[in-house]
Amino acid sequence: MRYITLHCSATRARQDVDAAEIRRWHLQRGFKDIGYHYVIKRDGTLERGRPENVTGAHVGGHNTGNLGICIVGGVADDGRTPQNNFTQPQWDKLRELLTDLHKRYPSAVIMGHNGFPGHESRGCPCFDWRAYRDALHNEYWADKAPEWNSHWLDEVDAIPQEAG
Ligand SMILES: [Zn+2]
Repeated sequence: MRYITLHCSATRARQDVDAAEIRRWHLQRGFKDIGYHYVIKRDGTLERGRPENVTGAHVGGHNTGNLGICIVGGVADDGRTPQNNFTQPQWDKLRELLTDLHKRYPSAVIMGHNGFPGHESRGCPCFDWRAYRDALHNEYWADKAPEWNSHWLDEVDAIPQEAG
């Protein structure tokens, strides 16, 4: 696994979106399933999307070896402006999930969606994921972030597929 990528659903704080609803959106966009591997609902419930061993569709051009986690929320009431409105149960569950994934995939780099080339202009995941990742490594796990392998970014997905 190369990356574990954080996303938000770009929905308002009051919208109680779940994996089934996101699956419907993605099927409408022509994906073969929900694009993410995990969804964390507003109440902190963790739902599974694609199995981890199936390539996702969440960062166009960089889906190979890339696990996608979607945290529900992320925009203000106008439905557009990025807003860090995630709940404490969501942060708790995200840390628990990332701790498990980091143990199982220690060389995977934790990313935010807009950290990938061609995706910089996106608001997603609507919070300061670099500071969040650094705090996990420095304070919570007390380890070193895995080496950044920039050559991965030059590789395009071998199979033309969903854009993500
Ligand atoms: Zn995203």
